[in-house]
Amino acid sequence: MNTPNVPDWHSIPRFLCALLLLFAVVACGSSSSNTSDATNQTADTLTSDADNGQADTSDGSNTISLGDATGLLQSKADIEIEKLENVEIGSYRSPTLNVTVTEETQSFMILVQGSPLTVYGLLKLAEPDGTLIYSAPTLYSCSPCKNRILPTTEAAAFLVPNSPKVTLKPGTYTFQIGGTTETESVTVQIVRYQSPTRLSAGKLALNFFLTGVGGVTSANVNESPVYTKLLSDMANIYTQAGITIDNVRYYDIPETFQSIKSTTGGDDDLSKLFRQSSIADEGINIFIVRSLPSGILGIAGGIPGPAWIKGAATSGVAVRWNGTSTGDYLGAVIAHEVGHFLGLFHSTEQDGSDDYLDDTLHDDTNNLMHWTGDTSQALPLVETNHRISVDQRFVLLSNPFVHLR
Ligand SMILES: [Zn+2]
Repeated sequence: MNTPNVPDWHSIPRFLCALLLLFAVVACGSSSSNTSDATNQTADTLTSDADNGQADTSDGSNTISLGDATGLLQSKADIEIEKLENVEIGSYRSPTLNVTVTEETQSFMILVQGSPLTVYGLLKLAEPDGTLIYSAPTLYSCSPCKNRILPTTEAAAFLVPNSPKVTLKPGTYTFQIGGTTETESVTVQIVRYQSPTRLSAGKLALNFFLTGVGGVTSANVNESPVYTKLLSDMANIYTQAGITIDNVRYYDIPETFQSIKSTTGGDDDLSKLFRQSSIADEGINIFIVRSLPSGILGIAGGIPGPAWIKGAATSGVAVRWNGTSTGDYLGAVIAHEVGHFLGLFHSTEQDGSDDYLDDTLHDDTNNLMHWTGDTSQALPLVETNHRISVDQRFVLLSNPFVHLR
């Protein structure tokens, strides 16, 4: 059982739209433990007070932009970011790493940034008393899976809790990262959402990347009825979760990005597209393209996506529009993809399996996160209700990113 056995991970799609992969039994590396001590990692802690949006970058290193908070003040949450540079993966696994949870920690997110050709996941996640809430000796086959995660290439994010069934307890959580490259060095960030109580509202900044589809550019987008409608629809959908969209930015990128033909491999069209996000301010990066492969209306960089990492192959969502249709579906499809990016799995998958949330109904096409939401099968469903359940709202409001401002 200790023989490393690494499959061709590179052929594994990174994105959730292939969610079934979560349940594929795929061997990954040695099961022998690595007892090296994480204390030799460099740790820099940045604290952002959402009241002023300013990052404490007193040492001048590892500066993380937390955006322009002008006029965006609402929440009282603190977002704390701890950065671990040069975390060594050996024998396909990291040392055991820690997250300190206090009485005021409402959630935390683990971000891993490494190689475009490596898939990163969690091998274990344990509560302070040692109880495992996630264990995946083979990266993709988990038991227990109480706090479900999705392995992702290059820049991966794992949200805790991502279900009301998981309750954070004060103390030290431990986790171990798995990767499909035997030996390498990665950067790990731990983002903690600190607040005396869980907040019932959040805010989102959106970065739209325009490829010129439909002749829409940053110069004329405000006169586009298609964009006016999609923003209105998206705002209405997210109102259900108490999340408002109050900062929308537009970036022009070359027309060569209109046609996305490949989505895997590290040097594929989609990775190159998402890397364009390196120019953006903090926000959810949304790319509007003319075409995506085979029947896909939208695709997300992760569940959740690595919202704090710009310019990576998973740093956004992409949605297609041919530039001539009325695009009535766009608001709902973007809302669906952003739902993934914030941490929501499909309420029901194409194979009939359901998410781990208790209050999402089986095969409910009125749910925002039904599997048809990012395929062409969504088109007949444009007029459905795109509901967000109470438990889905819990997940969305657990993501520290919606409490940044
Ligand atoms: Zn989806």
